[in-house]
Amino acid sequence: MSQNIRICRWAKLFSGKNGYFAVFHSLNLEVVFLEQKFREMIELLFLGTTLDFLTRKFEKLAEIAEVIAELSRCGLVVPVENDDLTLLDEKRKIHVLPPGLETLYLIVADDCNLACDYCFILNNMPENYRSRRMSFTTAKVAIDMYFRNLVRNPLGYEKLRKTIYFYGGEPLLNFRLIKQVVEYLEHQYKDQISEMGEKFRMSIVTNGTLISKEIAQFVAARGNFDIAISLDGQEESHNKKRPFINGKGSFEKAIRGLEILKQEGKKEISLSCTIADHNIDELPSLLDLHRKYGFASINLNPLVDTAKDPVSKKYMWKVSKRMIEYFTLAREEGVYEDRMMRKTKSFVEKKIHAYDCQALGAQLVCSPDGQLGVCHEGTGIKQFFFATVDKDFDFHKNTVIAEWKQRTPLNMPQCYDCPALGICGGGCAYGSWLRNGSIWSVDDRFCVHSRTTLEWLVWDLFSRL
Ligand code: SF4
Ligand code: SF4
Repeated sequence: MSQNIRICRWAKLFSGKNGYFAVFHSLNLEVVFLEQKFREMIELLFLGTTLDFLTRKFEKLAEIAEVIAELSRCGLVVPVENDDLTLLDEKRKIHVLPPGLETLYLIVADDCNLACDYCFILNNMPENYRSRRMSFTTAKVAIDMYFRNLVRNPLGYEKLRKTIYFYGGEPLLNFRLIKQVVEYLEHQYKDQISEMGEKFRMSIVTNGTLISKEIAQFVAARGNFDIAISLDGQEESHNKKRPFINGKGSFEKAIRGLEILKQEGKKEISLSCTIADHNIDELPSLLDLHRKYGFASINLNPLVDTAKDPVSKKYMWKVSKRMIEYFTLAREEGVYEDRMMRKTKSFVEKKIHAYDCQALGAQLVCSPDGQLGVCHEGTGIKQFFFATVDKDFDFHKNTVIAEWKQRTPLNMPQCYDCPALGICGGGCAYGSWLRNGSIWSVDDRFCVHSRTTLEWLVWDLFSRL
């Protein structure tokens, strides 16, 4: 007697390319491409059927047993009585782990010498906010607290990458502090840093305009100090959105900073590009900059919601499309954009990407006045900030951090039937809170990007078979 079988809950269909459609498993991340002639068979499998029945009904389709065997191997076809939620539980056990500290953001200055109107830090500041600079006393306590917590990481302190970000506003407005902190780290935590080797990084994202010879030498002398410069493309588009406070464009000064870094021997410099209407149709021009300056990586940042300016779905559709076009072009030159790459890696390696942001249980942010929180976007209004910096603060026992760590599509019933469940990571929790008042709501702005990327990945794979 033939077994009753059906399509499992996690199977998602992508229709129509060159006479084929795709059946994709949103948790195993397996994909099977089938000719359209099997479409009716799949429809019957959604209802539940038997192999005997299918063989009789589609007697002209000689490969039917083979196709069912392949669908079963990938978990796409299961016995009718299968409990599909068991697989979700298994995946959760592997991928939803307790919080584990990896990243510390020190907001060393929350003001800036530029006036970019899309800045998510400045646009989330309360009215009449007075900007601040971090003191060495605050930074030192934060560093001591960070190192005490690193060794407590239940996920294995040695294996994970650990990064201290010097962040702003414009962090180089407080370079004096950065220098003091780095020297303190190199003196006080010399052994730990040497033991961590490549796993320990310091990092800065800067607008580049304040880079002097002294700063460049300081950065270039350290192999574990990463630097990214914000450039939105060629001069005209960059200057439209990234002017100095006096209105003058900042491109020339940013490029000057980049060149000083190069002259002083800094080899690995990254480019960080924010995508808005000024450059959305010109992303390939970033590759011209890459050919000239040889960036270590190019990261594209879609706008995030701010208290003043929510991002529209129309914008996200366009960004998603342009990012895919850019990714396709850039990979021909061996350049892999990070945000797209995280999903691509998950898809190719068939490994669930449960979180797309370190704020979800792996990151701590210290504001200039020494308040601790999970996400730098909340720095101004101190949203999701919960303690004053103290060397005894226990990251791994904090309830806000524990809740954020749980926020993954694997724990969000709204996501269970989404094709992108396994590769998405859930987008931005802070944006979800801003839009809907809860980190547990779906970041629907980001959904557009995840789903569009998944569909592209499926058909990109097909085109390479
Ligand atoms: S929660 Fe959102 S704004 Fe905060 S760090 Fe994550 S992606 Fe960025
Ligand atoms: S956040 Fe959106 S795209 Fe991601 S899994 Fe949930 S519903 Fe799908």
